[in-house]
Amino acid sequence: MAARDSTRRTLACRLTPVGEGGISLIELSGPDSCAILDRLFQNPRGVRVAQMEPGRLLYGRLVRDGAPLDEVLLECVQTGGRGVFVINCHGGALASQRTMAALAAAGARPAREKEYLARQRRLGLLDRIQEEAALRIPRALTLRAAQALVAQHEGALAAVRDELLRRAGLRPTDWPWVAERLRRLLATAAFGRGMVRPPRLVIAGRPNVGKSTLANALLRFDRMLVHPEPGTTRDTIEEGLSLRGLPFTLVDTAGLREAQSEIEREGVRRGAQALRRADLALLVFDASVPLQEEDRRILARGGTRMRLPVLNKSDLPAAVPAGLIEEKTGCRPVVVSAASGAGLGELEERILAAAYPQMPAKGEAVLFTLRQERLVKAALQAAERKHRARLAAAMKALTEVRTRNDE
Ligand code: GDP
Repeated sequence: MAARDSTRRTLACRLTPVGEGGISLIELSGPDSCAILDRLFQNPRGVRVAQMEPGRLLYGRLVRDGAPLDEVLLECVQTGGRGVFVINCHGGALASQRTMAALAAAGARPAREKEYLARQRRLGLLDRIQEEAALRIPRALTLRAAQALVAQHEGALAAVRDELLRRAGLRPTDWPWVAERLRRLLATAAFGRGMVRPPRLVIAGRPNVGKSTLANALLRFDRMLVHPEPGTTRDTIEEGLSLRGLPFTLVDTAGLREAQSEIEREGVRRGAQALRRADLALLVFDASVPLQEEDRRILARGGTRMRLPVLNKSDLPAAVPAGLIEEKTGCRPVVVSAASGAGLGELEERILAAAYPQMPAKGEAVLFTLRQERLVKAALQAAERKHRARLAAAMKALTEVRTRNDE
């Protein structure tokens, strides 16, 4: 019932985040959208909103009770009972707030993006994958992440779903192909997850090995405080990092050592905690001095899912052989000089290979929510058992699921 009611209401929704910006987009959709805008919008040549056709843009201003609100560009997306219009008003919180208030006073119901997109899907204007992508595109942290999400919004994943549904069970010989395609799709999940929740790259090591210098070198600007005195980084510092367009959360930790003061102890405790939550830990060692007790303790630690040893200060005469670190960690260390930049290219490559082992090509289908991942796992199980009905149910649910929460 509620669902039917809400499809009859005319909703106004901000499509762009509230804040500083050039323009704000507000979408108005529902049976009264045309009538509401006809009351608020004035075109200098007298063109009425009711005369607009889909795809047309009209310049004009919004007027409320005779007082001009804002200069806008009005786009007509769809006409008729399911009218959809997009108002391009000035950016900044005030202009969009005033426009939203005027729309509400004229009869539209302000809606949150999530509610709005769910309704668009119920009206058949979006499928579930498009809805999930639309929610995430504005929050994409890098261009590569946005491109991958836009490709799913445009139907890359839906196309694979269709192909699998066509091929599954047609001929018995197709089953291995179907299972293989599903496995390939599942392998994109790490990439898709990273687009939405970037992997946590934690830089760990005893004080003074060059962690902050390395963090700054990776970020390519001076964010962290660097100081020759041990223990300068007292807290963990988080920063968004993009390596070749792929997002990470970089975490610089306080040096892992026996702390001298209460405040430093807290920093060390937080550092250890960050390490436990790391998706990938860079264990940094100073190559110019022999390994110290604290280095050995870090080497013995383990615990983190993935570790990549880094031998820093390669510009100075070497006191720690790379072979020794490899022997202790089972992983060839990356030799760098955070100060001069030597070896940073290789470090980037090794980080990318560890965090994003499968890199889908541009425009390729990618799984980017846990819901999708769960369904594709179920589909793969069904394919392995050659169970066509179960596979079809999981594949169909990818784009169209109606849960009780929707209603
Ligand atoms: P942290 O305590 O591990 O974060 O270490 P810092 O980044 O604060 O660096 C400690 C000291 O080592 C500073 O004096 C840095 O300038 C120096 N340092 C860092 N990286 C390098 C490097 O690659 N080569 C040399 N020669 N010095 C470095």
